[in-house]
Amino acid sequence: MYDYLVVGAGLFGAVFACEARKAGKQVLVIDKRDHIAGNVYTEDIEGIHVHRYGAHIFHTNDRMVWDYVTKYVDFNRFTNSPVANYKGELYSLPFNMYTFNKMWGVVTPEEAAQKIEEQKREAHITEPKNLEEQAISLVGTDIYEKLIKGYTEKQWGRPCSELPAFIIKRLPVRFTFDNNYFNALYQGIPIGGYTRLVQNMLEGIEVRLREDYLEDREHWNGLADQVIYTGPVDAYFDYCFGTLEYRSVRFETELLDQINFQGNAAVNYTDRETPYTRIIEHKWFEFGKDEKGDDLPKTVISREYSSEWKKGDEPYYPVNDTKNNTLYEKYKKLADKEEKVIFGGRLGEYRYYDMDAVIAGSLKLCRKIFGEN
Ligand code: FAD
Repeated sequence: MYDYLVVGAGLFGAVFACEARKAGKQVLVIDKRDHIAGNVYTEDIEGIHVHRYGAHIFHTNDRMVWDYVTKYVDFNRFTNSPVANYKGELYSLPFNMYTFNKMWGVVTPEEAAQKIEEQKREAHITEPKNLEEQAISLVGTDIYEKLIKGYTEKQWGRPCSELPAFIIKRLPVRFTFDNNYFNALYQGIPIGGYTRLVQNMLEGIEVRLREDYLEDREHWNGLADQVIYTGPVDAYFDYCFGTLEYRSVRFETELLDQINFQGNAAVNYTDRETPYTRIIEHKWFEFGKDEKGDDLPKTVISREYSSEWKKGDEPYYPVNDTKNNTLYEKYKKLADKEEKVIFGGRLGEYRYYDMDAVIAGSLKLCRKIFGEN
């Protein structure tokens, strides 16, 4: 009945389905969740587009991807400028002249650079043995203590002195007054939310929700010539080699009867005592306005807790360490042998991909199958 069955209505699946349809193919999309858009899903709560699976900021240097997404939805001019809260002291991120001025009262780039160099020298670290030493050798003690230590320990659930140094390769410091977190040519949030972006991609395509491919794969395989599978690769093979591990995040979301909770989309809590890593206030991704340009009277916040992942939890960040990468390679060998099924996306390939990379990956596959159009 169908040329393609697409398992998963996230970005990878939606782009593939959209391109297949344009190439004149019959496509069916299924997803086990009760909504489309996968992890970039945004739901409307009191006119606010809430990012249910974590804050998503679109940013890319890839002109082709930017041109592609902006065909389906307009983007606003949101720029990610997170704030760090260390025991009530607020600092600008990423580390820049505003941060250094607040930290040490320095005014010129030269003074700031001197301060960092002084602290690096005093630490006497020649060969960093762990993440703590690595961070201090890159940015000095004050920035490490106030802005890196607590946050990183909460993220990984272990002291920085017990974490390997390689986790932090670089810590960019800017000696300019530039709060823009991403070094990207293009950045923004889809007007109307990410769900609208995916909805527009899937226009005219049959989508069935609350359908788990793995529960009856014979039935689903019988419906289409080829399957694009964007679910977890280890689950597809019944975990025959073992389970691939992830880091998880727990979100505590609250609707508040007030206009403004924290004045910014993202505030990171960089001390060790506050149990959550950050608070997202979703309305500020769209400047606190609804689509008519009116101020939104309420606000929605999400506290994010970094947590250990166990089988059955929502998989968020793949743990791409040697053990898990080796395991993945074994699954990949099996996946490559499947004739009817192509694996793609963050779960199918067990990789952390930003949204632009997932879209580029899906488009690349489409070009291979359908040619340039
Ligand atoms: P998904 O969105 O996960 O889609 C896969 C879909 O397959 C899901 O809907 C799932 O329900 C479905 N599925 C799985 N198994 C089955 C099955 N057996 N049967 C039927 N359906 C199934 N990227 C950025 O560029 N900027 C950001 O700011 C950003 N923030 C992020 C924050 C967090 C917390 C995380 C974890 C990621 C973030 N990302 C960000 C990355 C972004 O989320 C991914 O690039 C994107 O969601 C990947 O899309 P996908 O289609 O591969 O996977």
